[in-house]
Amino acid sequence: MQAHNGMYIDGQWRPAAGAETIEVVDPATEEIIGTVPAGTAEDVDAAVAAARAALPGWAAAPPAERAARLGALHDALAARREEIAATVTAELGAPLSFSQAVHADLPVTVAGTYAKLAAEHPFEERLGNSRVLHEPVGVVGAITPWNYPLHQIVAKVAPALAAGCTVVLKPAEDTPLVARLFAEAVAEAGVPAGVFNLVTGRGPVAGQALAEHGGVDMVSFTGSTAVGRRIGAIAGGAVRRVALELGGKSANVILPGADLVKAVKIGVGNVMANAGQTCSAWTRMLVHADHYDEAVEIAAAAAAKYVPGDPTDPATRLGPVVNAGQRERVTGYIRTGIEEGATLVAGGADAPEGVERGYYVRPTVFAGVTPDMTIAREEIFGPVLSILRYQDADDAARIANDSEYGLSGAVWAADDETATAFARRLQTGQVDINGGRFNPLAPFGGYKRSGVGRELGPHGLTEYLQTKSLQF
Ligand code: NAD
Repeated sequence: MQAHNGMYIDGQWRPAAGAETIEVVDPATEEIIGTVPAGTAEDVDAAVAAARAALPGWAAAPPAERAARLGALHDALAARREEIAATVTAELGAPLSFSQAVHADLPVTVAGTYAKLAAEHPFEERLGNSRVLHEPVGVVGAITPWNYPLHQIVAKVAPALAAGCTVVLKPAEDTPLVARLFAEAVAEAGVPAGVFNLVTGRGPVAGQALAEHGGVDMVSFTGSTAVGRRIGAIAGGAVRRVALELGGKSANVILPGADLVKAVKIGVGNVMANAGQTCSAWTRMLVHADHYDEAVEIAAAAAAKYVPGDPTDPATRLGPVVNAGQRERVTGYIRTGIEEGATLVAGGADAPEGVERGYYVRPTVFAGVTPDMTIAREEIFGPVLSILRYQDADDAARIANDSEYGLSGAVWAADDETATAFARRLQTGQVDINGGRFNPLAPFGGYKRSGVGRELGPHGLTEYLQTKSLQF
């Protein structure tokens, strides 16, 4: 067990102000694997003061210097790939192969994109008789969740640093160990003291103190809609910039003429990845009435291949969910689905066979789901897929858009042109066309209640900039 007692503030690991700690639990074994300090408002104060003091120097650093530090951060993270993957597997429960390929490699890639963008971004433009300067917003408070713990940290910290902002990070309670590895990588990369600061702690204490702090110019939050709404209200009251990446209930629309087997299998894999704990997961599969029964059969067979198992075994495809509370929440939704009349065709609310410990949920598929059912409306955040039936393209568009969320989605058709025409009708921030792959430069963020603002690529960088116009 690793017992940590430091916060990374002003370029040093220093003891926390209080004595309280947070226990980190391995969701596969239910054993405590470490402790970190539960930060207080006092720690947040110290971190914000360090970030404010470092701001003028970092904001004035030439973009090439900021790019060099981000390049070094990319290298430091890449060098720690295996340690990052093992840490995320231990504290989140993600299968090791997924931790390596996604939890470790994706943030390395994103850090690399910002090393490049920091050097190349036009921080000045000419408009008629004006010179428009794109200047850093200031001190950023970053509050991140546990589901893609390092990716979500890098998706905020890297663009903020590229823009010339300084940062105080409050990572999720369940996954603070990888956040500590990130702070070590920042130190190795030679980022000046105070430019990046880490305060571990509980949401309603350290998170709230950061969201309310008068020395913070912008809050960037990823997590639940309930907390996001609160953080948005605080920011509104203080007239402070805010970025919110919230939940999703994305539609995977399979149009007639699509490769049904491929579309269904990839759709199931998309939902089962990371034990369903993905805000952009395509948790509603929409299939034409003529192909519906066949799709349900393919989906049930595909889900059965996701056998829950030890996440450290390289062959495992489905690990546990993050904690006991999340397991209760997910199995509660499965029971609600059954009560509301959906047909269970794979999985269920009972613990998987042969599993004696760990917060496991069976890979679950529901057929006969109608748009009014709870499992079609609310974000479950577990390995649960709902399959809905539509009659024609208008019906499919209506069902897909009948959601308070709009984060992601997919469209499959006989050709890209047909799928693209349909994607134009969707009220959502991203759509993958016929299996189009994830692009780390594409803007990521929500329509409707899925959030405010965009992350990744050049759009993610401009979130951390404000403009000043000089007239000549
Ligand atoms: P959460 O919103 O409670 O936590 C996210 C972050 O916010 C954590 O760092 C947490 O400490 C912090 N936080 C909590 N309360 C706070 C407050 N009052 N002030 C400031 N910060 C606060 O999310 P959760 O409890 O980890 O998960 C609950 C549900 O949220 C999940 O089941 C899932 O549906 C959803 N979720 C969505 C995403 C996403 O990427 N959109 C990520 C995680 C969770």
